[in-house]
Amino acid sequence: MKYEDLGVVPIINACGTVTRLGGAPLHTAALAAYDSAAQQSVAIEELQIAVSQQLSQWLDCEAGLIASGAAAALTLGTAAILAGTDLARMEALPATTEFPNELLIASDQRSGYDHAVRAAGAKIVAVGMNEVVSGAGVRRVEPWEYAAAITEQTAGILYVQTDSSRPLLADVIRVAQEHGLPVLVDAAGEIPPVENLKRLVDSGADLVAFSGGKAMRGPQATGLLLGTRTLVGSALLQMLDMDDHPTLWTAPAEFFVAGEVVGMPRHGIGRGLKVSKESIMAVMTALEKFLGPEQSKLMNLWHEMLQRISAALSAAGVTAELIAHENQVPQLDVKVNSEQDAFEVCQCLRSSSPRVFVGHSRLDEGVLVINAMAIRENEIEPLIAALLSQIH
Ligand SMILES: *Cc1c(COP(=O)(O)O)cnc(C)c1O
Repeated sequence: MKYEDLGVVPIINACGTVTRLGGAPLHTAALAAYDSAAQQSVAIEELQIAVSQQLSQWLDCEAGLIASGAAAALTLGTAAILAGTDLARMEALPATTEFPNELLIASDQRSGYDHAVRAAGAKIVAVGMNEVVSGAGVRRVEPWEYAAAITEQTAGILYVQTDSSRPLLADVIRVAQEHGLPVLVDAAGEIPPVENLKRLVDSGADLVAFSGGKAMRGPQATGLLLGTRTLVGSALLQMLDMDDHPTLWTAPAEFFVAGEVVGMPRHGIGRGLKVSKESIMAVMTALEKFLGPEQSKLMNLWHEMLQRISAALSAAGVTAELIAHENQVPQLDVKVNSEQDAFEVCQCLRSSSPRVFVGHSRLDEGVLVINAMAIRENEIEPLIAALLSQIH
């Protein structure tokens, strides 16, 4: 069956690897791995244990698991922080009235993705102020503001990593460690650079979530949760199908010391976030490729694609500026004619043939943002033609 059979018209995605538009094109090697993994049965718990060992080897983390996206990894990571190895707490989630349930977050790091954290039963507590954004000062959230907000109800700290996040992660981790609290980092879209996969775990964060379906080019419904053995183990127990026989099951020794998990958990809060064996093998294959030499070539390829588009637009008198910083995904800023409304141009591009979706973050400035990560080679010419037909 094809998309067209359902009456769904495929689009040219010039927006990047956004989830709303289906993420990145799946790596061909990941597709092959999916196909071959689908032909055999495996025990999912054994597979996730092996995955953890492989991730540990590749990324120097204690442990890791594959979840059904970075948002799922945030829910699972929160569940691990709230419940630890306590079966009664695992069973209680998302009800958290009987134990510490608050996650602190800098007020300017709040986003719609908080919902993934609240879904596990956590209460989000925003700390500090951003006086730069409010135009009333020069300071942003400061480390002491986290420390001042810590109470007996605090279970951990949530941190959203970007290049402009303040305070720096290292400073927040220092406060957390002083108070014996775990830090959960949302780094969903923070690769490339590939180094971030190791760097954020190395920083001392207890748990870090990445998307598998963005730049990594795994299946869109995959994500990585990397971190300490016990927390990742707890997250795993709360995601796995637990309908084994308690006489036959023991808590995996790869995550827990003997006696650390007393009894056998029932299906946990993360049971609905399961990942198929095929998806696990596909994202592990995509990650293996992502860690290899071809990744650096991809940056150059995106750059060349945008240069081609830029040259064609410029030749037709349309202003286009290529923004390329080292280690960052390049983007092309295309200016619409000053008499045109960029929102209208964007809407027309979405509904014309071929349908084109461009980045919408700077429409109010009259700029269409083009990202090459999800554009295929054979879409470049149709994309240029579509842009030129709408911008005059
Ligand atoms: C994309 C994104 C997520 C969600 O990732 P999925 O893999 O789609 O679940 C979470 N947080 C941030 C900051 C993101 O950019």
